[in-house]
Amino acid sequence: MADIIQLLPDHVANQIAAGEVVQRPASVVKELLENAIDANAGCIKLIVKDGGKTLIQVVDDGIGMSTTDARLSFERHATSKIRNAEDLFSLNTKGFRGEALASIAAIAHVEMQTRPHEEELGTALKIAGSKVLSQEVCSSPEGTSIAVKNLFFNIPARRNFLKSDQVELRHITDEFHRVALAHPGVQLHFYHNGNELFNLPKVKQRRRIVNIFGVRMDEKLVPVEEETQVARIGGYICKPQFAKKSRGEQFFFVNNRFIKSPYLHHAVVAAFEGLIKPDTFPGYFLFLEVDPSSIDINIHPTKTEIKFNDEHSLYAILRATVKHSLGQFSVSPVLDFER
Ligand code: ADP
Ligand code: MG
Repeated sequence: MADIIQLLPDHVANQIAAGEVVQRPASVVKELLENAIDANAGCIKLIVKDGGKTLIQVVDDGIGMSTTDARLSFERHATSKIRNAEDLFSLNTKGFRGEALASIAAIAHVEMQTRPHEEELGTALKIAGSKVLSQEVCSSPEGTSIAVKNLFFNIPARRNFLKSDQVELRHITDEFHRVALAHPGVQLHFYHNGNELFNLPKVKQRRRIVNIFGVRMDEKLVPVEEETQVARIGGYICKPQFAKKSRGEQFFFVNNRFIKSPYLHHAVVAAFEGLIKPDTFPGYFLFLEVDPSSIDINIHPTKTEIKFNDEHSLYAILRATVKHSLGQFSVSPVLDFER
């Protein structure tokens, strides 16, 4: 029989990969903010229009890119963050897949300006649908600016699937919160349709939480601290009387990466047993530090799920630690259902 297999052209492969990495504007925000963090930015600006449908721009003052790197950064599997498969188990960057920029450029109009500290001039690049439209030398501030316009312009089905600007903005804000909580030492600004939504100065962790969620958060927080063989645990839980019917103030970070873990969530809730009503959720901002070789981050393209070698021990430690913190701050064990 005749040969029928063909290698897909790059732009097609990129568009397929983009389907996994970029679900909505918030996915782009996550990838761009994480790249800015990985570039050691001290100050990051997020500029969004129309819920991210027309514009998502991230401006950082990080290390920038050389002209060659600026071009290469849009190739698939192009990364400065790992060199071989072993590096996956000693990661200290958010990125490693080298897929985000290639994916984003496959399904949007992208404009990048970048300049490394030691260069006088920078590089300006325009790409749309994986095609480089122009590359020029330009004068640019130190660092990198990436503007993503008209997301899904070439995938109408995806574009039509987007929710209202308000809903998309909510998802973007969630991503912004996650990065802001994990990096209180980085100054962050967030604008939507010209309005400043957040202006977060460089602070300590507790202050960052309060700056994001409002001054009333301060009285709710109970510090959590524990160090064991398996993990170091830090952060804050909210006092039981402030447990809410709605979710939204539950955050786990593992090695400073936001993750979703119903299993660990359960461990925290179990520690609150008897202190909160069964249909309410305690707030928490918990930071777990574990040996990078004891986790696998590469199980999902968006990297919000990870696999722990020893999930059961972590569960037990987390539950005991949270319980201990609740006890130490003499949180009353008696439930007052009338309140
Ligand atoms: P990854 O982050 O997994 O390496 P990306 O596609 O997100 O893959 O980025 C590709 C490469 O482009 C990065 O490895 C990095 O070298 C470079 N890069 C991306 N964004 C920035 C930025 N804001 N500042 C400096 N370099 C960047
Ligand atoms: Mg990245």
